[in-house]
Amino acid sequence: MTGCSTILKSRHKMRDALFPGSFDPFTMGHQSIVEQGLKIFDRIIVGVGANADKRGLLTVENRVRLIADIFRDNPRVVAMPYEGMTGDFCRTLGVGFLLRGMRNTVDYEYERSIMLINQRLYPDITTVLLFTPPEYVAISSSVIRELVAMGHDARELMPANIDIKNYLESV
Ligand code: ADP
Repeated sequence: MTGCSTILKSRHKMRDALFPGSFDPFTMGHQSIVEQGLKIFDRIIVGVGANADKRGLLTVENRVRLIADIFRDNPRVVAMPYEGMTGDFCRTLGVGFLLRGMRNTVDYEYERSIMLINQRLYPDITTVLLFTPPEYVAISSSVIRELVAMGHDARELMPANIDIKNYLESV
């Protein structure tokens, strides 16, 4: 049994994942993926990808601030902006896992195509795809953007205690 206890003692090396996305804004659905991911990984880095040709609802800085506010009390989750290829950012961070969420078969096809490209370009990085719990399947950043554009605060779809008004640029 010595072999076994040696394995148990030496097994703990920090296992981190990058959860990349636009997060414009981060929703309860994204939060559920982070929470499930924390059962597998020690730390999750939520990477907010800057897309030069896409002006969003929130600035990248404010998207990062919103995520940091949600996980203020959880040192296992950090939010960071990044530019360029997600795989390159993983390598810069020294992270070997990419975490993504899947709501339906449309997400499945999309996520699978990204995964196949990443597998070819970055064979050292493994994609982990988690299912969205049913209560969050209908939530998307684009629905929230539309509600906000119509003057609704979308509080029901946002993580607890987040008032989107505090993150809009004109505040
Ligand atoms: P991207 O523009 O890279 O698709 P998103 O911010 O839209 O970025 O999504 C980031 C990740 O979160 C993707 O893997 C997406 O499938 C997943 N996701 C989006 N909405 C939800 C949701 N309601 N529940 C769980 N996962 C979601």
